[in-house]
Amino acid sequence: MSSPDIEVAILGAGPYGLSLAAHLAGSGLAVRVFGMPMQFWSQHMPSGTSLKSEGFASNLYDPDAQFTLEAYCSEQKLAYAHIGLPVKIEVFIAYALEFQRRYVPDVAKTSVTRLTPCAGGYSLTTEAGETLRARSVVVATGIMNFAQVPTQLARLPEGFATHTSNHNDFRRFKDQRVAVLGAGASALDAAALLQQAGAHTEVFARRAKIAFHSPPKLRRSWLERIKAPRSGLGTGWRSRFCTDIPLVFHALPEKLRFRAVERHLGPAPCWFVRDAVEGRLPLHLNCTLAEARVVGGKVRLEFDQAGEPRRRVVEVDHVIAGTGYKVALSRLSFIDPTLQARIRKSADTPVLDANFESTAPGLFFIGGAAANSFGPMLRFAFGAKFAAKRVSRRLRAA
Ligand SMILES: Cc1cc2nc3c(=O)[nH]c(=O)nc-3n(C[C@H](O)[C@H](O)[C@H](O)COP(=O)(O)OP(=O)(O)OC[C@H]3O[C@@H](n4cnc5c(N)ncnc54)[C@H](O)[C@@H]3O)c2cc1C
Repeated sequence: MSSPDIEVAILGAGPYGLSLAAHLAGSGLAVRVFGMPMQFWSQHMPSGTSLKSEGFASNLYDPDAQFTLEAYCSEQKLAYAHIGLPVKIEVFIAYALEFQRRYVPDVAKTSVTRLTPCAGGYSLTTEAGETLRARSVVVATGIMNFAQVPTQLARLPEGFATHTSNHNDFRRFKDQRVAVLGAGASALDAAALLQQAGAHTEVFARRAKIAFHSPPKLRRSWLERIKAPRSGLGTGWRSRFCTDIPLVFHALPEKLRFRAVERHLGPAPCWFVRDAVEGRLPLHLNCTLAEARVVGGKVRLEFDQAGEPRRRVVEVDHVIAGTGYKVALSRLSFIDPTLQARIRKSADTPVLDANFESTAPGLFFIGGAAANSFGPMLRFAFGAKFAAKRVSRRLRAA
């Protein structure tokens, strides 16, 4: 049996893949990174928004934690604050691409279309037509494959309904009537930007209330700090537990872990979006989508409303699902069925050991796909430090 072409293939060039690659630089291992650098952030999130995470929690990680967002902003003479100054998405993307140029200059800007087990590791085929073998593979493909669209919308003819991840720019909706479904950050960000772009926008949410985050308090008393310590995921002991002891989280019973990931840090919109939507566009609460049809070139939406005997009916030019993402490994179509069968899963998410390794030896998952194992921190760039340290140590020792 000949040895694999490379030791490590990293699939994904977002904050997780790039941080891991930076940690493996100089290890002597032959590593290749595949994917479009910061693709999700530049193509599948709307431009003109700001990050939910504070400045100090919006980094990519080199092993010495040298090139932080703060360092980049200082070099570029851009405004920066650890907390309280929202990070513009364009600034974060430019910083991450600079990180990539400095620490991971050789990204193969192509996607992996097929991943299969082979002797001594894994065989990868890329969209560019290359095939190679790697001893270990780290899947860092983020959440872009996991967009959730309600079945009523998925059945509509093409062009009438989309997901927030399909949009980076909302200007094409100027003067159109657009319904946005959802009560989380994606939905409310999209609604605010649609309104600014001149679309007649309405939001429909199942919830009784939109749970906007509160603005961070810059000065806090010692009592406030003890009661709700700050962490990279916001304030409070639960968040602090998630950021500081992810290995303890990993050791919790599965039921507890899954419940924590589902309930903690739900899809709340940011405080600075509140002013852009409240009082500026209709927010219809307690509305559950019951039916969607195209009638006379418009989308006719019918909503069941809590406490109302009759459905609310609206007609719009377009409907955008701001209904979030749900990790489902079976949707990663590049993973060959024979390999899918070797990965032990729970609720269609990978069961991972304390080093992020799945039950397929040498196959690792980092980022959102690892949240059920290590907690909600893994859904945010902040978790990339822990993941990069842990996986790089394991790969160096292999
Ligand atoms: C509306 C919204 C707001 C958010 N706000 C924040 C925030 O403020 N702060 C924060 O920390 N997080 C935020 N997040 C979460 C954010 O998406 C993650 O923190 C971050 O993107 C995770 O990084 P990643 O490296 O895992 O994946 P991503 O950044 O999604 O990168 C995925 C990479 O995988 C590559 N790829 C995909 N498929 C393949 C393939 N088959 N082969 C090879 N490469 C592939 C892509 O090209 C890309 O390079 C937000 C998410 C949403 C939806």
